[in-house]
Amino acid sequence: MPMLEAIWQSGRLTNGGQFHAELERQLCSHLGVKHLSLFANGTLALVTALQALRVTGEVITTPYSFVATSHSLIWNKLKPVFVDIEPGSFNLDPAAIEAAISPETTAILPVHCYGVPANTAEIQRIADIYGLSVIYDAAHAFGVEANGESLLNAGDLSVLSFHATKIFNTFEGGALVCPDLKTKRRIDYLKNFGFADEVTVVAPGINGKMNEFQAAVGLLQLPNMPRVIADRQRWYRRYGELLSTLEGLELMPEPDGVSWNYAYCPVLVRPTFPCSRDELYDRFRRANILARRYFYPLITDFPMYRQARQLPLPNARQAAEQILCLPLYPDLSEQDFLRISDVLTSAAGR
Ligand SMILES: *Cc1c(COP(=O)(O)O)cnc(C)c1O
Repeated sequence: MPMLEAIWQSGRLTNGGQFHAELERQLCSHLGVKHLSLFANGTLALVTALQALRVTGEVITTPYSFVATSHSLIWNKLKPVFVDIEPGSFNLDPAAIEAAISPETTAILPVHCYGVPANTAEIQRIADIYGLSVIYDAAHAFGVEANGESLLNAGDLSVLSFHATKIFNTFEGGALVCPDLKTKRRIDYLKNFGFADEVTVVAPGINGKMNEFQAAVGLLQLPNMPRVIADRQRWYRRYGELLSTLEGLELMPEPDGVSWNYAYCPVLVRPTFPCSRDELYDRFRRANILARRYFYPLITDFPMYRQARQLPLPNARQAAEQILCLPLYPDLSEQDFLRISDVLTSAAGR
């Protein structure tokens, strides 16, 4: 593999090597963002985003996400405040955000769940009135565009994850998208122990750097993304056709007016379906098929969050009980799709 040899010969295995620089450049152009800083993973990018903006006190966030979202607050000794998601979408409800604001609130940490845009206009309106920072956990939102613009330009900062389970991956990896060079410099210091130069340390930064091997993996994958998304779209629509024939199962509709990435395949298992979401999940397991309960349990149900301030969460709770994400990947085979449909149709009692 010539890239491995190039890394070795350059004598720079990490700390901002040639592939790191090249991947930052290519990702900015691919995603349509001004600046971006690569990270070893998305969680360290989240932790660093909160430090870059000097967030303090309380942060309003969603219980319907992967735990890393709120863990990043705990790592910064911030207090998560959990509010509900919108009925009919899986994203934070702006009205609930506004209702939860206290004198301690300094920021909002929404997620673009399943890559579907959060209500960025309304969230920004609230943030502007109350003087809050907005950091988007955009771990699902690689390449998503709304109104012809990258969704990653919403808010103050956006965090990407390039974990192996995400649509674009570097095995482990992530990035922080920011609007200006000054912020990027600060983020670059913070991900490298706080070093501003050889002898100056400006903050208790973490080691969040992406290494050259990860960057090379990203460079190899990036040209495939249009095909990856086209294949995912094809399979998503096949699922749509199948599920439209099964009473009680609803595939999440594709978001309107959005160039979406088909990152997940969430299906609502309604009470009218002959078996529960968990029974359906077990049927898949018995057939040796891994469907995922993204996101169950709710973050607020984990012991370390039970004391956290929270508003009523009926919509999040319902989603956590009814959603099952079906296998969706570009090289899904016709044969595997048939195995998956067999489980669905037999559970439906056909
Ligand atoms: C994957 C994910 C993360 C964490 O990213 P890592 O790269 O695995 O650290 C954070 N938030 C959400 C919503 C995710 O799905």
